[in-house]
Amino acid sequence: MNAVLVVNSGSSSIKYQVIDERSGERLAQGLVERIGERGAGHVVHRAAASELARDADIPDHSAAFAAIVESFVAAGTPVDQLGIVAVGHRVVHGGSEFIAPTLIDRAVADRILDLAELAPLHNPGHHAAIVAALGVFPDLPHVAVFDTAFHQTMPAKAYTYALDRDLAAEHGIRRYGFHGISHAIVSRRAAELIGRPVEELKQIVLHLGNGASMCAIDGGRSVDTSMGLTPLEGLVMGTRSGNVDAGAILHLLRRGVSIEEVDRELNKRAGFVGMTGSNDFRDVRAAAAGGDEAAKLAIEVYVHRARHYLGAYLAVLEGADTVVFTAGLGENGPDLRALICAGFEWCGLLLDPARNEADVSGSRVISAEGSRITVMVVPTDEEAEIAQQSIALVASL
Ligand code: ADP
Repeated sequence: MNAVLVVNSGSSSIKYQVIDERSGERLAQGLVERIGERGAGHVVHRAAASELARDADIPDHSAAFAAIVESFVAAGTPVDQLGIVAVGHRVVHGGSEFIAPTLIDRAVADRILDLAELAPLHNPGHHAAIVAALGVFPDLPHVAVFDTAFHQTMPAKAYTYALDRDLAAEHGIRRYGFHGISHAIVSRRAAELIGRPVEELKQIVLHLGNGASMCAIDGGRSVDTSMGLTPLEGLVMGTRSGNVDAGAILHLLRRGVSIEEVDRELNKRAGFVGMTGSNDFRDVRAAAAGGDEAAKLAIEVYVHRARHYLGAYLAVLEGADTVVFTAGLGENGPDLRALICAGFEWCGLLLDPARNEADVSGSRVISAEGSRITVMVVPTDEEAEIAQQSIALVASL
């Protein structure tokens, strides 16, 4: 067996999957929610055809891992009987120093916590889960796989903000980019789908989920991406604004809006939810179809921004071989895909309407025969990528 326990942790939740890395099969998966909320914890575990769900008191991440171990026992397959050879932890922010999957020891765990300054919503939860997992699985290698690492190949001209050099250096202000685990697997699978080596391709990936980012990939290496110092920059998202004139933030602060309120407005109350009242594109689409002007405008703003980046990345890459849509809206939004791709025929991008609208899942080509740019839908699978990167690192030790 060559299984990996993949852990995707937040401050109050832990999602996990046990993946057989060779076949991609999910041997078990589950989640623990509402960690730290007195008596309100919830535990779900799925293995084979069975699902176990229960409420439990989960005061912290160590208790969460204890509950996970109990779930495996209750499902009839204790976790040590699954052939797990590594624990792979998704970590959102790796700063400038973590440019590849990294074997976790105490010092690495401490550095991940230090980076919480750059990712206050994510890294503290990762750190708590890593420390707890090291305690529960002390004999397994633990690997951190970073969302930022894939973008560490960006050239300085793409990651540098035009700020005073000393100020930027003192405060660590530069563009890092996120969703790198997804951009990596999606670009590789897109290359496999058309049977060409990733090293030969110029690719533009649109990861359009609740969080959304685009990436320009040259020969398998990220050369530009739309998220920046934090996941706030770039595209319009479910609850985040994406690009806003930094002057607007100064304006709000000068008018007495607190830093915490500005933070909430930009990260939690903007994007689709801010413009329409719902962060879910299905609601926005239904409202627009019913004639709601705010929803129609929100879709126009969303599409306009994505088209900006598509044009920009065609310039950055000097053309493209593939344009690849992934994540919730990218995989399930033929209407959005058509709007984003419309009018790019001049550069050889031609959608096939029937292929685009076909009600099928899985990786597929949606451009027309003869389109110079191959447009694809490729489902993302971040857990599979974390499993693969973890195994590769452990095998190289
Ligand atoms: P996350 O960033 O949380 O991983 P996902 O990639 O799962 O997000 O995307 C979730 C979003 O995808 C939903 O909020 C919704 O807007 C959109 N979505 C999911 N299913 C559909 C669908 N069938 N049609 C349109 N949009 C969808």
